[in-house]
Amino acid sequence: MKKIIFGLLATVLLLSCKEEAKKTGASNGETVAQEVNVYTHRHYPADQELFASFEEKTGIKVNVVNASADELIQKMGEEGAQSPADVLITVDAGRLVRAKDRGLLQSVDSEVLRTTVPGHLRDTDNQWFALTKRARIIAYAKDRVQPDQLSTYEDLASDRWKGKILVRSSGNIYNQSLMASVIAHTDEATAKEWANGVLNNMARDPKGNDRDQVKAVVAGEGDVAIVNTYYIGKLLNSEDAEEVKAGEGVGIFFPNQDGRGTHINVSGAGVAKYAPNKANAVTFLEFLISEEAQKVFAHSNYEYPVNPKVPAAELLRSWGDFKEDTLDLSALGNNNKKAVMVFDEVGWK
Ligand code: FE
Repeated sequence: MKKIIFGLLATVLLLSCKEEAKKTGASNGETVAQEVNVYTHRHYPADQELFASFEEKTGIKVNVVNASADELIQKMGEEGAQSPADVLITVDAGRLVRAKDRGLLQSVDSEVLRTTVPGHLRDTDNQWFALTKRARIIAYAKDRVQPDQLSTYEDLASDRWKGKILVRSSGNIYNQSLMASVIAHTDEATAKEWANGVLNNMARDPKGNDRDQVKAVVAGEGDVAIVNTYYIGKLLNSEDAEEVKAGEGVGIFFPNQDGRGTHINVSGAGVAKYAPNKANAVTFLEFLISEEAQKVFAHSNYEYPVNPKVPAAELLRSWGDFKEDTLDLSALGNNNKKAVMVFDEVGWK
């Protein structure tokens, strides 16, 4: 009996040592597998490359669960305190705010993250941090539009663009975040008026993704499209000749340069509330924001790096510097419901 009790005790001790080793990263003679579980909406080859170099550098294994941000947020909610998730990565600030509001993230005390990620690009409670930036710009038909005819998002509601605007549906989070920023800078009534004006100027009912809007501009269906910058990069570097042609046919215009700046959104990450490997999760985020990792982000997916020390890729630099809207990105999430309501009220499908 004594033997059994001793045996049990030893097992319990061993297990708790292992737990402790896992938490602290101590190895006490034997190697304990270090890992970090990443729930991510991003599905780019560059991310795989980065995860591999993180593993090599730190010995911490990266386990990836890939799904849409909505699915991942739901999964984390259902898993509750049992969730294996350490890190959540999404491709827009709106969903990071949503995850925070649902209590799925936790504050992180990291000087590296705090000092590297500009204030408007991270959560006020340090529950999430931007990793990459994208601007929502106006792509215009080079052969029919002069850039000096363009100025602001607001101006797209004016009569001169009647029948000329291409933009995807309002169900898309990029448009919801743009609308949320308009509401944040003005008010719902003004935003509604703007939405109505843009709706009246549409070349067709909203359909397709951002790339489809650019293709439609080049096909002559309309003159201007509201799209994210990296899609132009993707088109220009596509293996499909038609896509390259579409990318080449449009100019990039950064709206609102004399005012609040061009609307930007981010992909970003936060540490899960119940992260079993919190220390590894923080190390992982610090790695993703490092100059080394930010260079990979900058050169692979045509996004703007968040680390100010890392220059954007050449193609993006060729579009020129621009003033970005420094609105606190939490406002995109906080105004999301209002934005959806405005779209519904004016009938922007
Ligand atoms: Fe996208």
